[in-house]
Amino acid sequence: MKGENGSIPAFARDILQTLEGAGHEAYCVGGCVRDTLLGRTPGDWDITTSARPEETLALFGADALPTGLRHGTVTVRRPDGSAEVTTFRRDGDYTDHRHPESVAFTDSLTEDLARRDFTVNAMALSLRGELRDPFHGREDLAAGRIRCVGEPARRFGEDALRILRGLRFAAVLGFAIEPETAAALSAAREDLRAIAPERIFTEVRKLLAAERPSAVLREFPEVFGVFWLELLPMLGYDQRNFHHCYDLWEHTLHALDAVPGEEALRFAALFHDVGKPDCFSLDAGGVGHFYGHAAKSAQLADAMLARLRAPNALREEVTELIRRHDTPLPGIPEVNLRRLLRRLGEARLRRLIALQRADNLAQAPEYRAERAAGLDEVLRRLDAILREDACFSLRQLAVNGRDLLALGLRGAEIGRALDFLLNEVVEGRLPNEQEALLAAVRGRDT
Ligand code: ATP
Ligand code: MG
Repeated sequence: MKGENGSIPAFARDILQTLEGAGHEAYCVGGCVRDTLLGRTPGDWDITTSARPEETLALFGADALPTGLRHGTVTVRRPDGSAEVTTFRRDGDYTDHRHPESVAFTDSLTEDLARRDFTVNAMALSLRGELRDPFHGREDLAAGRIRCVGEPARRFGEDALRILRGLRFAAVLGFAIEPETAAALSAAREDLRAIAPERIFTEVRKLLAAERPSAVLREFPEVFGVFWLELLPMLGYDQRNFHHCYDLWEHTLHALDAVPGEEALRFAALFHDVGKPDCFSLDAGGVGHFYGHAAKSAQLADAMLARLRAPNALREEVTELIRRHDTPLPGIPEVNLRRLLRRLGEARLRRLIALQRADNLAQAPEYRAERAAGLDEVLRRLDAILREDACFSLRQLAVNGRDLLALGLRGAEIGRALDFLLNEVVEGRLPNEQEALLAAVRGRDT
């Protein structure tokens, strides 16, 4: 096929050539073949070979690192890139839903491809551009389909991480999951409890980075419910409120697709209303309200992220965005906007606006235009504040720690005085001018 050979990068060609030159079979395999055929840039290059690990080590000498000998993997470094070179292998029995008991090397490429999870991941490409595709991955790639190699129920039973890998590939590639694979994946979901939370998190974050992550969440909410039980009450939940044209779960999925693909925003969108069912009340007119749901959602989101061992910085940002997602920004007084800019910083404030915009887009159409215009206005005012180079962080304050040291302040006093001054400037009570600020500090001391 045109271009295939040319698209293997020089370092990988070089490694294939060296292996073949020594009389071994060698192919690019897995994700890099899939991505190359799709015209995407592969993240990493894997090579599969008939050479035994010790032969690969000997062949590449100092450029070879025994990074995963137990599984037959040797990392080979080249000046312009490195590849993982793994010996053709067959996996033994799986007893813990994650790892094979043993691995055995084989001389058969087909056996090696048979142990791989999905047909689109089970293709090998030679130096000369020949595609080895015994499980018809090419066809599934063309049809946009994720399908297990072999019998789906057995494959998910062996390794439950494949459940999330399947959902992740479907989301990222925009593929459908073939019905038998879909049924088996859902049926095996309880086995996810055997998977390390960190591994689950890694898959989920990649999945949420997809252009439109909603599709797999809509089709398989019960799978996510295994580790995020809190999501399930949102399904089909009627908000009994005229602002909403969707049930709570559909609203959430629309908001999720509508935020930019940044990690904190995607998690914030997914969880922004998760506390609503706990906060429901009905007024005399029969309209539903959810007082306090932003704080409740933030609290649940924090626990849901902690459960998967998400990094603290991400948890902190996601919960702050959620806590503030319902505080109206349109028409916000100037001083409050500056205060928010100071508290959140520019990037996070922009993300908060993006979250509100997506939340609004996922509500009843008759209210969208007005709120969207209000948020546009906030953005224009934010740009204006930033353009005029207004002071909203210590970096921009007209005095610094050294100035205060010269004034005779010491240690913690300095930090407190700087905070005080920044606050006064942001609130508009003092101009951001050195003389005025120093005078204010002197005045405060005496
Ligand atoms: P990406 O690198 O884009 O995340 P990938 O398909 O390359 O996707 P890797 O984790 O790099 O995924 O694995 C490389 C290949 O190894 C896969 O394409 C697949 O053939 C095989 N593989 C990886 N994990 C599994 C698994 N849990 N079960 C079966 N085969 C797997
Ligand atoms: Mg890969």
